[in-house]
Formats: sequence, structure tokens, C-alpha cells
Amino acid sequence: MGFEVSESMHSVIIIGSGCAGNTAAIYTARAGLKPLVIGGHEPGGQLSLTTEVENFPGFPEGIMGPQLVENMKQQAVRFGAEYVSGKVDEADLSKRPFRLRVEGEWLECRALIVASGASARWLGLPNEQKLIGHGVSSCATCDGFFYRGKKIMVIGGGDSAMEEANFLTRFGEEVTIIHRREEFRASKIMLERAQANPKIKWMLNTIVEDIFDVEQGVVTGVQLKNKKTGESWRQDVDGFFLAIGHVPNTQPFVGQLDLDAEGFIVSHGGARTNISGVFHAGDVEDRVYRQAITAAGAGCRAAIEAERMLEAEGH
Ligand code: NAP
Repeated sequence: MGFEVSESMHSVIIIGSGCAGNTAAIYTARAGLKPLVIGGHEPGGQLSLTTEVENFPGFPEGIMGPQLVENMKQQAVRFGAEYVSGKVDEADLSKRPFRLRVEGEWLECRALIVASGASARWLGLPNEQKLIGHGVSSCATCDGFFYRGKKIMVIGGGDSAMEEANFLTRFGEEVTIIHRREEFRASKIMLERAQANPKIKWMLNTIVEDIFDVEQGVVTGVQLKNKKTGESWRQDVDGFFLAIGHVPNTQPFVGQLDLDAEGFIVSHGGARTNISGVFHAGDVEDRVYRQAITAAGAGCRAAIEAERMLEAEGH
């Protein structure tokens, strides 16, 4: 067995330990439901990948992302939430109690809150992961402020890249969009807005080959290559923002929960999914806001719905 849990049957299991999962844990724990939180493959969620969080209400001086999620977890533990590390490999939601296989062990629950998030898609470059939080970011709203007067790059050709590039022109001395093609996936209106912004420069048909400088522990530049001409060159940059999409962590629920074409959970109103007793919270469903505070709010909502359902059933 990969971990120890007090029992295999639970009133509530929460999948995910980011803002949504931790908030759902605080609420369900305070309601006396002793939730079990399955940490997931990125414990702490997206916040654990950022540095300082300045826009979460209640912290006038800001707070480090990993500290914020750890605080939430401690708050939930104080009220009796139990945490295990590991991820859900398989789920059987065909009847209640729902069954989940976690690290080879089957667990059961009456109510399930899926707060497994969406992981930012990365380019997969060796140095990219080493420089996350030190110049490499997947969230302009979170980290843009730190690049005031600096050189910024945004990678991608979708709506997120356009939106993030526009947002980042508030801070950066210059913002360059790097896109691997000439055509854009972005909607016309978002593209035109970015094209009309004089602070945005464009490098099309361009791919990123490497990011520097791991030895200095901070982003100083990138190696770029023009796919058409084959030319490769080094370009100085301070902030490197990925906007190449997010991948929702819904693999175990394919064919059971209603998912959209990209795998995000389709809401059936409030925190409800198509399966009674299974609730969603946070980025696993939210393609629009994707903020720590909105995920926390969604966790609260899912917890209240789960609590009310269990109470109505006499559990
Ligand atoms: P997206 O539409 O899937 O676009 C991803 C972009 O990243 C594409 O241009 C893609 O290039 C590029 N890309 C993917 N993998 C790459 C790789 N390995 N290397 C280089 N480039 C890569 O994702 P998104 O922009 O995050 O948008 C997701 C959804 O949210 C969309 O439905 C979008 O409309 C919506 N959204 C809406 C708003 C808004 O309306 N305010 C804002 C943000 C997002 P290719 O085009 O070559 O595949």
C-alpha cells in the first residue's frame, strides 16, 4: 500500500490540494465530514508553481504561493481533514458509493469533489522547469507585475497569448509574441486587439529551442529558431510567459463525467456535474477566470453542495 488512511469508506473525498481542494476541505471538515484529500500529482496546485501572490484578498503585503496553499491545508487539517499523497488512477462513478483507485488502493465515498485542476502545458525544454518562478511563468495575471520595465516574451497564438500579451504591456518595456505558425488560433477580436497594441512585437514561424540561464538561476535569454529560414539566434529576455494552453486533469473520468472537447468538466449548474453526488471545483471546470480566489470560491460552493446533499440523505 502506497499510503495509510484511517479507513477506506469516506463521506467526502476531495481530489486535488490546490486552492479549490483545500477550501472544499476546510468547509467540509468544519461541517464534521472528515474529508479525505488526495493530493494529486501537483500537490498545492498551480499556486505551488508561483512565487509571490499579491492579489489574494487578506494579505496586504502579499504571500508566497506555496505558503498560501500550505496555510489552507493546515487550516483544513485543524478541523479534521485527512491528506494523502498520490493520484487517482481509476474511478468508478457508475453507482454510489463512488470508488477511486489511488496508488493501487481502492477508496470509497458518498460524495466526491473533483478539484484536480488543469496543468499548464509546457514546452518540455530541459531548462524550462528549472526556471519556473524565476522568469518562466504560465500566469501573466500572477507574475506580470514583477516585470515592470523589463523585456517580456509570450509564447502561443491563442486567445490566452493575446490576452496575456496585452495585459503584460502594462508592465513590460516591450512584449514579444512568439508563435510557431503564421496563422492564429486566437479569435479575430483578440488578435486584432493585440495587433493594434504598439507595444507588442511579433515573431512568427518561430520556436523556442532553449532557455537560459540556469546557472544564474534566472531567465536572461532564449535560443530561438525561425522554422522557415532555419536561422537560429539568441535573444535577451527577462520574463518568459507560456500561453500554450492548459490540460485538465480529468483522465480517470473520461466516459463517466460530461467533459468538453478539451477534457474540462461541463458544469450542470452550481458545482454539479452530470452525476449526482459528484461536484466540481476550480480549474478542472473553469476555463475563464483561473484565479486562486475564484478556485477557492468554487471549492466553498462544492463543499456546501456536498454537505447539503449528505445532510438531506441523513449522513
Ligand atoms: P489554445 O486556444 O489551445 O491555443 C494554444 C496556442 O498555443 C496555439 O496557438 C498553439 O499553436 C500554441 N501551442 C500549443 N502547443 C504548443 C507548443 N508545444 N509549442 C508552441 N506553441 C504551442 O489555448 P488558449 O489560448 O489557452 O485558449 C484556451 C481556450 O480558452 C480557448 O477556447 C480560448 O478561446 C479560451 N480563452 C478565451 C479568452 C477570452 O475570450 N477572453 C481568453 C483566454 C482563453 P497552434 O495554433 O500552432 O496549435
